[in-house]
Amino acid sequence: MASDTIGASEDINSRFSGHFYLRGEAGYEDARVGRIWHANKPDRYPAAVLMAESEDDLVNGVRLAREKGWSIAVRSGGHSFPVWSVRDSGLLIDLGGFKELSYDPETQIVSATTSVKGGDELNPYLKQFGRYFAAGGCPSVGLGGFLLQGGMGWNFRGWGYSCEQVFAVDLVTADGELIRADDTQNTDLFWAARGVGPGFCGLIVRFHLKTRPITDGVAVSMQAYPVERYADVLQWLWDQHPHISDKVYFNAVSARPPIPVPGHDGGLVFMIWACAFCDTQEEAAAALEPLKTCPYRDEAILVSDAQPTTLPEQLSLVDQLHPQGLYYKVDSAWVDGPQPDIIQAMKTLVIDRQAEDIGYTFLIFRLPRPDDAPEIAMDLGTDLCVGAYIIHEADSASDKLRNWLRDAMGELEPYTVGQNWGDSDQTFREVKCLTDASWARFQKIRAARDPDGVFHSHLAGEGGFQNRNGWEAKD
Ligand SMILES: Cc1cc2nc3c(=O)[nH]c(=O)nc-3n(C[C@H](O)[C@H](O)[C@H](O)COP(=O)(O)OP(=O)(O)OC[C@H]3O[C@@H](n4cnc5c(N)ncnc54)[C@H](O)[C@@H]3O)c2cc1C
Repeated sequence: MASDTIGASEDINSRFSGHFYLRGEAGYEDARVGRIWHANKPDRYPAAVLMAESEDDLVNGVRLAREKGWSIAVRSGGHSFPVWSVRDSGLLIDLGGFKELSYDPETQIVSATTSVKGGDELNPYLKQFGRYFAAGGCPSVGLGGFLLQGGMGWNFRGWGYSCEQVFAVDLVTADGELIRADDTQNTDLFWAARGVGPGFCGLIVRFHLKTRPITDGVAVSMQAYPVERYADVLQWLWDQHPHISDKVYFNAVSARPPIPVPGHDGGLVFMIWACAFCDTQEEAAAALEPLKTCPYRDEAILVSDAQPTTLPEQLSLVDQLHPQGLYYKVDSAWVDGPQPDIIQAMKTLVIDRQAEDIGYTFLIFRLPRPDDAPEIAMDLGTDLCVGAYIIHEADSASDKLRNWLRDAMGELEPYTVGQNWGDSDQTFREVKCLTDASWARFQKIRAARDPDGVFHSHLAGEGGFQNRNGWEAKD
């Protein structure tokens, strides 16, 4: 039986090195929403919040929740757009004050707690060892949410989901036991920790991650076109995609350019951004060479070929596209079907963005996974993801922009297989993030590992539905 009250005689705080706040206490509100990175603050209220600071806090937090009959929600970096960490009732365990990093030069594995930020903290730490990890484009995203939902990091196109580089995870189970999951033990949880997203049935303490060497051959090519020319340029890029080296990570975006474009009025452009991850600059230039063959290049308003660059330089560009503290609405679609039809169906998203919105539409490509790629939970298997970030200052525009986004994404529904957890909000539009087989497999794991629902399951869509394409259900 869940109880949201604790007797005054109970000195809960003495169980933790971090601070425990009961709803109604001073400090509760800041603990509930203060670490959310953007302006989306939900009207959902946990019974209590634990600002954890140590491994013991995590174990004791889970044990306390069991005692009280509370369900647990977790926060690491605080970036989730629908704010999965803030749920009604139960205990929110916030891991922001629990940061540990260590590196083993022999195995080249880095161990990191989950609130460590991939770009801002993990990679600066790894630099001293000449290594890096394929963290997300936005440097402040926490490893916890990022890796659990798959993680589209550097060179996602060629290297796949960042969670494929997870070697092992340490976690607290629903029974309050600290265990390790890897290829040889607790393999069900190891599979699930690589992609089931924000309904994982355990509290991850730390990830053990394979790292890559920092090389001298990182270079970037960019081309920007008038946004109205997106269809031809995109069709060309999509045709080329299977033939371009797997060392080249490229995306296309419809955005206000994050760099000065001479003569441009500041409105949307359609940009190709391609970054090669090679050993030498010569190799990178050769890998980027196919980008030069775009037949519409003479219409481009900006062209820059194979410029040597670094990840911090590229991160600062990505950072400019994501101002902190504003309202965000996101949606995405892994698409499959006739390419010209899909390209037409994204026209509203690419060209007709609303005046209040300073966000962008992105197209992320991926190559087929090699046969020896690890088995992970997240994988919808198509080669193009269309996503939209709506970013705005005034909450008063929220309803209008949400509806615009739903209608614009709706045009892609005939071709939509599913979406990314990280770019989804199931409370607003129901789109599956896992294949039916992966979802069914996870439900069995959850039933076996957490039969009492100690951990909150995924935030459901209308009517409590999870992992379904809403428009198919209505057919
Ligand atoms: C500006 C911006 C840019 C982004 N760019 C990218 C990108 O390039 N690639 C990409 O893949 N994603 C990207 N994302 C999406 C991002 O990866 C997800 O929102 C992710 O959930 C954020 O992780 P977090 O730890 O910061 O979030 P949080 O809100 O702290 O966590 C999200 C959820 O993950 C689960 N979780 C987190 N930690 C744990 C844990 N220790 N144990 C159990 N469950 C846990 C919980 O359910 C939690 O509520 C971006 C997001 C933003 C805001």
